[in-house]
Amino acid sequence: MLLTITYTGENAADLGYLLHKNPSRPQTAVSSFGKIHIFYPEISANRCTAALLLDIDPLDLARGKPGSAGGGLFDYVNDRPYVSSSFMSTAISRVYGTAMSGRCEMKQVLADSALDLSATLVMLPCRGDTAMLEKVFAPLGYKVEWESGLLDDSFPEWGDSCYVNLTIRGKVRLQDLLRHIYVLIPVFDYRKHYWIGDEEVDKLLAHGSGWLEKHPEKNFITRRYFSKFGHFTKQALKRLDRLDNGEGGAENPAAESPVTEEEEASIPVKIPRLNDQRLLAVLGELKASGAQSVLDLGCGEGNLLHLLMKTKDFTAIAGMDVSALMLSRAAGNLKFDRMTEEEKKRVTLFQSSLCYRDKRFKNYDAAAIVEVIEHLDENRLPALEAVIFADASPATVIITTPNADYNVNYTGLTANHFRHGDHRFEWNRVQFRAWADSAATRHDYSVRYEDIGEQDANQNTPTQMAVFRKNTRQKTTAPEAAESAA
Ligand code: SAH
Repeated sequence: MLLTITYTGENAADLGYLLHKNPSRPQTAVSSFGKIHIFYPEISANRCTAALLLDIDPLDLARGKPGSAGGGLFDYVNDRPYVSSSFMSTAISRVYGTAMSGRCEMKQVLADSALDLSATLVMLPCRGDTAMLEKVFAPLGYKVEWESGLLDDSFPEWGDSCYVNLTIRGKVRLQDLLRHIYVLIPVFDYRKHYWIGDEEVDKLLAHGSGWLEKHPEKNFITRRYFSKFGHFTKQALKRLDRLDNGEGGAENPAAESPVTEEEEASIPVKIPRLNDQRLLAVLGELKASGAQSVLDLGCGEGNLLHLLMKTKDFTAIAGMDVSALMLSRAAGNLKFDRMTEEEKKRVTLFQSSLCYRDKRFKNYDAAAIVEVIEHLDENRLPALEAVIFADASPATVIITTPNADYNVNYTGLTANHFRHGDHRFEWNRVQFRAWADSAATRHDYSVRYEDIGEQDANQNTPTQMAVFRKNTRQKTTAPEAAESAA
């Protein structure tokens, strides 16, 4: 991803002072998500361009480094390494943090002056919002130009791609230009690579104060900046309104001391992924159940199996999936080829289907079915129910599935669409509980429910989990008899 900033004016190379980056020395900063190169492709008396090139290794992302998505194929096939996203915003504040604060001892007057500046951002994901480019940047005093290409030259009927190369030109202070870009990239891309915590509101206020509170698209910008975290949007809008009314400045110390390079570098970029939260919740339930043997049904690439193997409580572990490809990936991820004979006795992988009775499902203490039921056609669920509860019948069954109530928080997800292309249905809490309650009753299990993941303002979480326990028959021995026998 590339951001270029061009200054046109007398002694244009002074841009180097303002950015605190020497024009004659290309530099590279290493961040947790990739390399940030800074160099000047153009320096003349009247024009100087600084380029920030962000080089993210797509494989690093896929290997679970910050920015990887929910796991699976998406981590390998996605646009993250190639587009202007929150990675770029973080890179900007990392390498241009001092410039964003407006400090420049050598050229303070220049730093405080509105200059002829332009900035070009390459590959900004816009997702059909190109009309918003003008509405968002023009009120800040910029002339806005953007170009886009066909999604696929061979299929012109598919229309334009959702990525644009954006250029904004205006007479602005460099610190303002940087703060605008920092805030507005994730507004268009709206997929932050890091965990959004309470400090994110302070950060927006720090970089947005002085312009955002008066912006006609303040609501749009704030909502999109926080994407699915609606409660932060509300907090931020309240504080922006107070700023607009001339109140509340003191309540926002960050606005008075813009985030510095050092502070920005300490922003946590490690993401507790929903996937991880879910697997840890399932692992916790399995441990609490006292199970020693566990069957992971629809094990996918083996993420839960990996955790199970690291836990001594489990003496027999099996992973089953309908897909041979998934099983071979699981075998690779779990390093089956390097397992000792002893380890091989503890862990097995096999191909089967949840919809057909299979002797191999029997004799496990617990079964986990994590994010699988929604991949089956709803009319196959009675078969699954018979196979798991009636036939295999382990003491504990744990099932997780998306909570459709939470989908309103996914800005990119329109009504009647699912989170994943292969999902056949997504249930809200009432629907999931209705199915699970009746399955439990039919097969003499009891069931309780847990929420997994970030809770939104309406108390929804992205994942819901049912923990089934087989009801044990009342012992015939009376308690008194047991006591006297003891
Ligand atoms: N449990 C894993 C994978 C979830 S993705 C995890 O949480 O990471 C859904 C998985 O269910 C896929 O691997 C898919 O191959 C598997 N699957 C779909 N239908 C199935 C069926 N009928 N029987 C067994 N597995 C199935």
